[in-house]
Amino acid sequence: MSDLTPRLNNASRRTAARTLYAVQPIILQKQVVVTGGAGFLGSHLCERLLNAGHQVTCVDNFSTGSRQNIMHLLGYDSFNVIEHDIVDPLDIDADEIYNLACPASPPHYQADPVHTTLTSVLGAHHLLKLAVRRNARIFQASTSEVYGDPHIHPQVETYWGNVNPFGPRACYDEGKRCAETLFFDFHKSFGTEIKIVRIFNTYGPRMRPDDGRVVSNFIVQALRGEDITIYGDGSQTRSFCYVDDLIEGFIRMMAVGAHVTGPVNLGNPAEFTIGELANAVIALTGSRSAIVHHALPVDDPRQRRPDITLAGRELDWQPKTQLIEGLEKTIAYFESLLSHSGYKSWEMA
Ligand code: NAD
Ligand code: UDP
Repeated sequence: MSDLTPRLNNASRRTAARTLYAVQPIILQKQVVVTGGAGFLGSHLCERLLNAGHQVTCVDNFSTGSRQNIMHLLGYDSFNVIEHDIVDPLDIDADEIYNLACPASPPHYQADPVHTTLTSVLGAHHLLKLAVRRNARIFQASTSEVYGDPHIHPQVETYWGNVNPFGPRACYDEGKRCAETLFFDFHKSFGTEIKIVRIFNTYGPRMRPDDGRVVSNFIVQALRGEDITIYGDGSQTRSFCYVDDLIEGFIRMMAVGAHVTGPVNLGNPAEFTIGELANAVIALTGSRSAIVHHALPVDDPRQRRPDITLAGRELDWQPKTQLIEGLEKTIAYFESLLSHSGYKSWEMA
């Protein structure tokens, strides 16, 4: 474990916080740990927490995350970065822990499936023990993948899912399911305050160009004039949530009373076929890319759409960003990234 940005120790941090309270008593500053903080979602979450005045420690092994994603946050005195793999134990100060560490894109999580399972299971165990030691509230980034290839549509939290336990997606799906189990067993055994959200396909700036998920693939292919790769006939559906909406849901979930443990679905219920998404990206980029069809991956879910009634009731949350608006923002990000001379070095980060 190496601290990339050694700054204040905990005692000096608390002294600094007390000084801050003296000037601005309204800020209730917390020590917040974000695992996976250099990833797509994690970097947006760190930024949001820093802007709210919290001390944030980003814990990341930089496997799919990037230093580029958090470069702009290094100017905050209240931001720490620790390079660490959550498969190994961790002991740091924490009032709140957000566990986002896990590769989320199918090609990335399938590249080292054993490590993916261990990240979700051992990682959750280490972080839950940390939460017990520090009496911290702990949040788990779970996933719509716990529903597998769902027979119930839209998916409600009470649905137990349809998951192949040894297929190519199992390392991710079963790892996340087991993490939910561990969270609930710590809650029951030790009274740990847990917060579980099940995230549905989310997109936006700071996805990697080589992430491999559908939105970033299609946009990058369209901007480069390459063929757009639809897997299967494109009739499978997904429901796409813009990143800012999702992060708002995270913050509300962590803030709401301890009785709301989740799991709570967070996602945008507007459902599109993958073919519709390809056409939207082509239209918005003005691309001349052709659409080509590749084989549908094994166990690829046929349909996915969140029922967000629970999030509406418990968190007063619903997404605000329509697909076209979110795609426009994401396309602008990738246009800038791909035209930037630093792009090659980012790819290597
Ligand atoms: P991402 O790959 O961009 O981010 C994951 C981050 O975790 C990266 O920074 C990576 O380096 C880090 N990481 C991975 N394994 C680690 C380990 N063992 N120890 C320490 N750090 C590790 O993916 P994302 O889209 O930002 O997803 C973040 C979280 O949200 C993941 O847990 C993912 O399962 C969950 N999620 C995301 C989506 C989505 O649509 N984006 C959907 C469902 C669930
Ligand atoms: N997909 C596709 N072309 C791509 C990448 C993905 O058609 O270049 C499809 C994939 O088969 C799936 C959907 O898009 O049906 C969403 O894939 P993604 O990897 O983004 O997320 P997940 O399958 O985990 O929901």
